[in-house]
Amino acid sequence: MDFRTDRMAPSTSNVHRRPLPYLLSIVIPLYNEEPVISLLQAGIESLIPKIPCAVEVVLVDDGSRDGTFFMLSQWASENAGVKVLALSRNFGHQNAATAGLDYASGEAVVLMDADLQDPPELILPMLERYCDGYDVVYAQRIAREGEGPLKRVTAWAFYRLMRLLIHRDLPVDVGDYRLLSRPCLNALRQLRETHRFLRGMVAWVGFPQTAVQFRRPQRAAGHTKYPFRKMLGFASNAALSFSAFPLKVLFVAGFVMAAAGFAYGLYAICRVLLGLYVVPGWTSLIVAQCITGGSILMGLGMVGSYVARIFEEVKARPLYIVARSINIATAQTEPQAVMAIPDTEAR
Ligand code: UDP
Ligand code: MG
Repeated sequence: MDFRTDRMAPSTSNVHRRPLPYLLSIVIPLYNEEPVISLLQAGIESLIPKIPCAVEVVLVDDGSRDGTFFMLSQWASENAGVKVLALSRNFGHQNAATAGLDYASGEAVVLMDADLQDPPELILPMLERYCDGYDVVYAQRIAREGEGPLKRVTAWAFYRLMRLLIHRDLPVDVGDYRLLSRPCLNALRQLRETHRFLRGMVAWVGFPQTAVQFRRPQRAAGHTKYPFRKMLGFASNAALSFSAFPLKVLFVAGFVMAAAGFAYGLYAICRVLLGLYVVPGWTSLIVAQCITGGSILMGLGMVGSYVARIFEEVKARPLYIVARSINIATAQTEPQAVMAIPDTEAR
């Protein structure tokens, strides 16, 4: 495996070697993943003996409509180290991942996708980097296999745009597949905003970070839950919840337009004062009016999207609702709205 220390990593003086975690949690959100579960189970079960510390697996069923929960409960019945949370409906990948991270009790936690596009073997080099002292070890894709040109182009543009909008140090070509140390996870769990962009939030909490690189394989089975429309929604969510950059662009565009309008107005007045021929001016008038009206509407729409976000945040609804759980000590019989952060020590 090829390692490369990312430039977000601070100087090595901040990074000190440490022992293996007493428990490693592997958190996996799943939505309609029935075709892939047996492959995932085989992949994880064959990896566990190679991991040099205790392991728990936290599987979050994000309101699947197929046989996902049934298959997960079978897996959990065979292995007490496999915990299952079933959310009451589909809350989306970021919220399902949050649920899993809240219920993980490991000293180190790995978040990964269910479809084996995040190869489980990568956990071994991630653990090595954890022992080197890094608190965040993310998996960086150096190539993507078996994905169509549209998915590749949108993903390429997505990461570059996010870097521009969120933070110039946000690593590119890095998804949510990563290992987090307990201190970093505890910091992350304090961020309870409704519109979640986990990888941006992890960058925000800081801590020493590094990368392990891999070639991303194609899905083992089933189909993507992130079609183009959802990718677009995810990108705009990430941009709007993390950055006021769109508002700044709007302000600059509005300023440039207003300045141009002012200059044009001066020019028109000068022409009149100098007694030059003045065109009846309908065309220029209507064009100016359209540009002004359009830019005002654009601005209102942009402000509106931020206001909508404030509205959502002010409601402070729970990020997810756990309907059922298996192999979790605090198993809920009643649906539980998780607003407060569950106490890991108590479990
Ligand atoms: N997922 C989820 N809830 C959703 C959508 C996706 O829990 O609403 C899970 C899905 O089961 C998978 C992971 O998120 O484990 C990533 O989804 P997918 O592989 O479809 O995304 P892609 O790799 O195509 O971007
Ligand atoms: Mg995938």
